[in-house]
Amino acid sequence: MKQKVDYLIVGQGIAGSILAYRLYKQNRTFVVVDSGLKNSSTYVAAGVMNPLVLKRFTLTWRAQEFIDYNRRFYREMEGFLNIKFFYELPLFKLIESEDEKSFWQHRIKKASLNDFMEEELIKAPSSIHPSANYYLGKVKQTAWLDTKVFLESFRSFLKNNNHLLEEKIDYSSIKKITINRLSLNISFFVKVRLQ
Ligand SMILES: Cc1cc2nc3c(=O)[nH]c(=O)nc-3n(C[C@H](O)[C@H](O)[C@H](O)COP(=O)(O)OP(=O)(O)OC[C@H]3O[C@@H](n4cnc5c(N)ncnc54)[C@H](O)[C@@H]3O)c2cc1C
Repeated sequence: MKQKVDYLIVGQGIAGSILAYRLYKQNRTFVVVDSGLKNSSTYVAAGVMNPLVLKRFTLTWRAQEFIDYNRRFYREMEGFLNIKFFYELPLFKLIESEDEKSFWQHRIKKASLNDFMEEELIKAPSSIHPSANYYLGKVKQTAWLDTKVFLESFRSFLKNNNHLLEEKIDYSSIKKITINRLSLNISFFVKVRLQ
């Protein structure tokens, strides 16, 4: 059976999955084509959501906005798929020297990072290093996405609703069209077969 769809998404990583979910919510028709690799970036990722660059203790771009969005979005998706994969967990930075310790405290005060860094450092337990004088700095508002559970549960949803084509796209099927000598447009001519 041939079927016309508004959108063809190549790849069911985190990007393709979220795009597909958004299109589904907007009642658009779409198909996700994915070859089903078990070693894709999303599949093997640590899944850490961390607003702080741990080398210089600087905030990432639009950190608070993205954290708030992530919270809302992944909770909504958990409800939609009826499974848990988003965990709000603390992240601890290992502080290995007195200089780093002072730098941590200096950054909180200088850059008003109280919403993202715990001022008080914790003495690292001996299980981390028995002899060294290490500390742990707590980064706030961090989370962990269990990417395998996320991908697999969303894949089941796609499969059960005829939105998934388990195939590898052959990039040579992409046709280039030249318009007006200068601009270049690219269009796909892919026959989508759904069982
Ligand atoms: C080891 C590791 C750890 C990481 N840890 C983190 C982390 O802690 N936090 C963080 O934010 N980021 C992390 N990242 C980065 C993050 O995983 C990636 O930025 C993100 O997963 C990219 O997602 P994606 O959807 O763009 O691509 P992918 O996850 O690579 O998805 C692409 C999909 O497309 C499919 N595909 C490709 N070509 C074709 C084709 N021709 N036909 C059909 N299907 C095709 C692939 O099979 C795959 O399923 C990590 C990455 C790695 C490798």
